[in-house]
Amino acid sequence: MADSPDVAKLNWMTTRIDAALGWARKFSIFQYPFVTACCGMEYMATATSHYDMDRFGAGFPRFSPRQADVLFVVGTISHKLAPVLKRVYDQMTEPKWVVAFGVCTCTGGFYDNYATVMGIDTIIPVDVYIPGCPPRPENVLDGLMKLQEKIAQGEKAPAAVLFSARPQEVGLPHRPEAHL
Ligand code: SF4
Repeated sequence: MADSPDVAKLNWMTTRIDAALGWARKFSIFQYPFVTACCGMEYMATATSHYDMDRFGAGFPRFSPRQADVLFVVGTISHKLAPVLKRVYDQMTEPKWVVAFGVCTCTGGFYDNYATVMGIDTIIPVDVYIPGCPPRPENVLDGLMKLQEKIAQGEKAPAAVLFSARPQEVGLPHRPEAHL
């Protein structure tokens, strides 16, 4: 049965408001950099004026998770650090997004030992994976634009990864859970 004109009008307005919110949010990214290792140097390179993250509305990091809406996880995560990362994520308010910066955060990278988390998606949900060791700033900006697309789609955005392949899709054999 078709919606009544009033319901259809309300749906139209809600859709337009969601679209406006998504547009505003995608240019208002307050990132929390959770930096643990060498990828941090490339993160800092990306933040320089040469690459101009301000044009994406993402040039102003916040160092309190309660004031941030995008968690940038940059560098190797050890099992000892895993509960800290989870706590930071939990402290962020909704809506929030997570970027895995560098192959160590995506899959554990070349580390295959008792101490390293084999991908942060064993701890928290990830929206965009940016591979590379470290990723070049151009890769990071590409990932940022993919994140903007996802933010603009709002709650309709699929949980799928928009950048690169999911680690489980490239055949990583065994990814033990993090010790929380
Ligand atoms: S991906 Fe490479 S550069 Fe980045 S933290 Fe891991 S080892 Fe370091």
